[in-house]
Amino acid sequence: MVLEKSFAEKEQAYNPYQVAVEQLERVAEIMKLDPSIVEILKHPKRVVTVAIPVRMDDGTVRVFVGYRSQHNDALGPFKGGVRFHPNVTLDEVKALSMWMTWKCAVAGLPYGGGKGGVVVDPHKLSKAELERLSRGYFSAIANVVGPYQDIPAPDVYTDAQVMSWFMDEYSKIKGYNVFGVVTGKPVAIGGSLGRDTATARGLSFVVEEAAKKLRINLKESSVAIQGYGNAGSYTHMFLEKLGAKVVAVSDSKGGIYSAQGLSYKDVMEHKKKTGSVVGFKGAKTITNDELLTLDVDILVPAALENQITQNNAAKVKARLVVEAANGPTTPEADDILYSEGVTVIPDILANSGGVTTSYLEWVQNIQGYYWSAEKVDETLKEMMVRAFRAVWETTQKYSVDMRKGAYIYAVGRVVEAMKLRGWI
Ligand code: GLU
Repeated sequence: MVLEKSFAEKEQAYNPYQVAVEQLERVAEIMKLDPSIVEILKHPKRVVTVAIPVRMDDGTVRVFVGYRSQHNDALGPFKGGVRFHPNVTLDEVKALSMWMTWKCAVAGLPYGGGKGGVVVDPHKLSKAELERLSRGYFSAIANVVGPYQDIPAPDVYTDAQVMSWFMDEYSKIKGYNVFGVVTGKPVAIGGSLGRDTATARGLSFVVEEAAKKLRINLKESSVAIQGYGNAGSYTHMFLEKLGAKVVAVSDSKGGIYSAQGLSYKDVMEHKKKTGSVVGFKGAKTITNDELLTLDVDILVPAALENQITQNNAAKVKARLVVEAANGPTTPEADDILYSEGVTVIPDILANSGGVTTSYLEWVQNIQGYYWSAEKVDETLKEMMVRAFRAVWETTQKYSVDMRKGAYIYAVGRVVEAMKLRGWI
């Protein structure tokens, strides 16, 4: 007898690393890649696990667990963010580091892929505790990072302040300023203009390109955004500027819906005052799950992994799904969406504006020469449009969905570099 697994069991069974490997295997088959290459690419080159003792404000000591996964550096130093989240696992960080390898390759950056994480709910720490944890984590991984080795950046629940502490700690260890060891820093200490809004800015360029190809009139389009962190909130701002109507947004506490549309400025003000988008005047409260299946033209998952799955993919009504989050769609859901005619712009393309602007920040750091906001914006646009077109062409050429198209393009670049370097 086959027992149907409960929803909770299915959720538990989800493993982001297995998803990342499955995505790789799917395109390896299409590309007819040598199995030994696939075997190399399945495994991160190095994974570091650290224990971080932190003196809490009450005098006790708590030990936090942190990771840094360095997946592949054939194209250049490892690159990728660090997340502080209570549900961080080693397999999650490994998956995210592999996704960074493909993302940097899609974006045309001279970088490989890395990712870090600390198992912690940063909202439960005081600012002083958060600083001690950030410094402790960075000093624990200091010997495996560096501007030509591995360059961390912000991710879920880390920000420019955390990057300042990372950079300062590393500079203290070295004995001189090393701005280029971390990106996403505040502008006052080596950050780039435009880095804070870059993920959403890049996403808006990609949406404009996709709209042209798919003949979507953005001025008549409705949008739902799941997640209201850096990527989600600024996506609201930029898509509103393009004339789209954002009818639903959400955060970890729940979602809001208004058929008339939600103003970015007003929702942000409410979130700043109350700590959540929930309770916004004139909007109906909805759940995060309801948001995903709303009758909208464009759906932007901008929270965490594993949101569009085989359980809800058939109910998605949007024509275009744009992944601001990393890994929100499972491979089974990809197949369902593709068969229903839904276009998914994959994370490794859609949210690559963040790491692309990190690259521009790093270039400015190592040259010691800083750019205007206009120059950053123009360069980002040029690079995003180029990446979109390359992925679109590959997708057409192989008659596949856009994730596979992006993977074929990215994996091809990484494998070429590995072959040239004599790794295989
Ligand atoms: N954490 C972001 C990402 O997932 C940015 C990484 C970076 O700037 O290095 O793409």
